[in-house]
Amino acid sequence: MDTFERLVQRMMQMPLAERINTLRAERAKCICTNCPTFTECAKNLEQSFFCFTGMSIICISHEVRCLCPTCPVPLETGLLHTAFYCTRGDEKARRYDQFLASRQEPAGRGDEDPGRHGGPGKDRQHLPGGEEG
Ligand code: SF4
Ligand code: SF4
Repeated sequence: MDTFERLVQRMMQMPLAERINTLRAERAKCICTNCPTFTECAKNLEQSFFCFTGMSIICISHEVRCLCPTCPVPLETGLLHTAFYCTRGDEKARRYDQFLASRQEPAGRGDEDPGRHGGPGKDRQHLPGGEEG
């Protein structure tokens, strides 16, 4: 288990208020608002911290440059993807996408019922952070 997975597991055990405080503390370090990809729309909606909150489908649709690699949050929280979270999705989503890509079925079998290959209960055990899918 890596740093990010341990953090997610720890947060899952926290009461909501503590989880929010933990995320707010990390969000305070976010430097998205200085980034050339960041938009006026994102500013007006007080968006940022996309590595944990997810992509900005409303406000950001064009990648210019990404400051995430110079931000302290990826190192402190064990993020693996370290760039363009606002357009490509948060860490959890990208890990899950990667997981799904790694288990792509051979061509022609994609329309089969996944329940016949072990069922959703089995699949859930492999989700990052132990979350249900
Ligand atoms: S890694 Fe990127 S999205 Fe995450 S807090 Fe830092 S600047 Fe913001
Ligand atoms: S996620 Fe990266 S590209 Fe997007 S606004 Fe933040 S620093 Fe810029």
